Amino acid sequence: MILSTSNLKTHFFEAKILDFYRKAGREHLPWRREGMTAYEVWVSEVMLQQTQVSRVIDYYGRFLKRFPTVRDLAEATWEEFLPYYAGLGYYRRGRNMIEAAKRVVAGHGGEFPRDKKLLMQLPGVGDYTASAILSFAYGDDHLAWDTNLKRVVGRFFFGSKKALDVPGSEAVFEQGFTSSKKDLNAALMDFGSAVCTGRPKCNICPLQKHCRYFLQEGAQEKAAGGRGDSSDKKTNWKDAQVFLFLHENHRRYYSACPDRFEMFVLPPAYNSREGIKTYFKERYGLDLAVRPPHQKMPVEDVPTLFVNAQVLLGEPKFPAFSREAVREFLRGKGWSR
Ligand code: SF4
Repeated sequence: MILSTSNLKTHFFEAKILDFYRKAGREHLPWRREGMTAYEVWVSEVMLQQTQVSRVIDYYGRFLKRFPTVRDLAEATWEEFLPYYAGLGYYRRGRNMIEAAKRVVAGHGGEFPRDKKLLMQLPGVGDYTASAILSFAYGDDHLAWDTNLKRVVGRFFFGSKKALDVPGSEAVFEQGFTSSKKDLNAALMDFGSAVCTGRPKCNICPLQKHCRYFLQEGAQEKAAGGRGDSSDKKTNWKDAQVFLFLHENHRRYYSACPDRFEMFVLPPAYNSREGIKTYFKERYGLDLAVRPPHQKMPVEDVPTLFVNAQVLLGEPKFPAFSREAVREFLRGKGWSR
């Protein structure tokens, strides 16, 4: 696919998006203040990864009160950190935060480097987070390509949210846009979460006149891959059992069986995130971080959720196996991961 577009169309797009932001942007969000430090931007971006904005707002304020600077965070133990983070899920992110803070203090004198490559050497900081820090804190010229940006730009210019999955294609747009990247990032994030959502609200969209997705009635996106699996609709996942893969940082996997690897099997009554946590807390005194199911499929006609969980606090008494042993086990069963 050749990704190119006219200046006129780009200009229309930027003008409409920024106009939307002026009228309906979420400037009230605590991480949209003027004069945010790189540390404050970074904390918000880590918390917002995979977690809803409304949920992050409370955590963000409390967290910064307790750890107002990167030096405060660098000195924190996991036990001190956890009460201000528990509930956000994705605990590897939390551990990465402490480690990254230590490195910023030890290696960069307590200042997040104003350099994308150096930022991306910090644990948990990828292209998107580095761009967000550079743009929001330092005002540098970087677009932060999250799923919102890719969806809006992909649909408007090429008719499909998947168009910018082509590696390197985002760079074309970095050059094409002329407005402040900081403003564009904020505007596109808000527009993508309010108007051009998973099911786009084209009927109220100020971009529809020139939007390729709208003009094609979404044909290209549908052709590029529809939604979900039709079998999903027939299976009653509320009654699913859980195959739980319990691990320690993905290095050691705990087995439900003494002499070989077996996942834990939980009955349907425990097939929610809270249910799984309760199950392990009550039986084994363990606190877990539970991920959303990474696979759903019937196993011998029983609806089954495949879930990963990590031990947060407590001493597991189960035998442990390597990741490779688990892979071997899964291959033997014919289950992919
Ligand atoms: S017209 Fe529809 S698809 Fe196009 S940008 Fe607006 S909401 Fe998204």
